[in-house]
Amino acid sequence: MYSRTDWENMIREAIPLFRTLGLENGDRLINTLYGGGLYGGLSTTLCELSRMPLECYSTAQAISVDDLLMLCERFEANVLLGLPVLIMPLLREAKQRRPGLRLEKVIYGGTPMTETDKDWLRQELGARVVTSILAANDGAQLGYQCARMGGTLHHACPDYNLIEVVDENLAPVPEGEPGELLITSLQKFEGPLIRYRIGDLGRVFHHDCPCGVSGPVLEYLGRADGQVKVKGATVTHAEMLAALEVFRVSQLQVEIVSVDGRETVIARVESPLALDAGEVRDHLTRQFKTLDQEHLFNDALDVFELTVECLPEGGLTRNATSGKIKPVIDRRLVDA
Ligand SMILES: [Zn+2]
Repeated sequence: MYSRTDWENMIREAIPLFRTLGLENGDRLINTLYGGGLYGGLSTTLCELSRMPLECYSTAQAISVDDLLMLCERFEANVLLGLPVLIMPLLREAKQRRPGLRLEKVIYGGTPMTETDKDWLRQELGARVVTSILAANDGAQLGYQCARMGGTLHHACPDYNLIEVVDENLAPVPEGEPGELLITSLQKFEGPLIRYRIGDLGRVFHHDCPCGVSGPVLEYLGRADGQVKVKGATVTHAEMLAALEVFRVSQLQVEIVSVDGRETVIARVESPLALDAGEVRDHLTRQFKTLDQEHLFNDALDVFELTVECLPEGGLTRNATSGKIKPVIDRRLVDA
């Protein structure tokens, strides 16, 4: 719930962030953020971008490769705003159909983008700016990248959202330690958010950024539900995804199922390359002892299996409202 003042505050505070993310006067932007189902992406950015001196064509999630190619040519779009899960498959197909395709700036949010995907944007599309904005559907902006930041590091917005990093008992952890993120909105009063658990992991520490801004930065460490717990050990979704960069994997979904006491971990990967499932599987078991079938409590028991399914880009099911892919589905707990 937002009062008019709350809404004004959110919009006003986001505009300087878009400047830092790389938007400039006269840019021509395609906005593919999701709309509908009370989802914040499209409705908030429509208001924010309409107050900036640039041209914006909003397609939301309905964008097709044809739309993208048409807008790059006839609308002379130079910026694309969207979720990596939606835009990467579209851009790769568009590049295949029009090898000369160029896009100066890509601003993404929602989920992390792999370093190999960022390199692809720079090399294949000539992207000069690839930056990330972190936001929560109910709490709006949490962090944003400047041109000097990479990975998942973001400048925080401490006068808009106060971020606490806490342990499992909701007690704050020491500065720089990883934990779950709680946010308290400092400019939202009608439906205030106080120590609101957004379901993300991260760490916050002081950083003197080469861009000139000194202050708290947030390193995003993925969804709090992105943990693969098998055989008494934990492997995180983010670690597995990082290990799969050699295969140019863009998206990973891990499902854990248990049938008759036998646990199976299914790793579904999306990549622009045609991958061999056996090779990906061997690589994962070499990288993570926990996922190795040979490494069991008791050699006589056949209680664990890792399988890999290779899908083309766009092959994993996206949530109809948010467009996101569920990172870890643990069917041992609930039938998710
Ligand atoms: Zn900076």
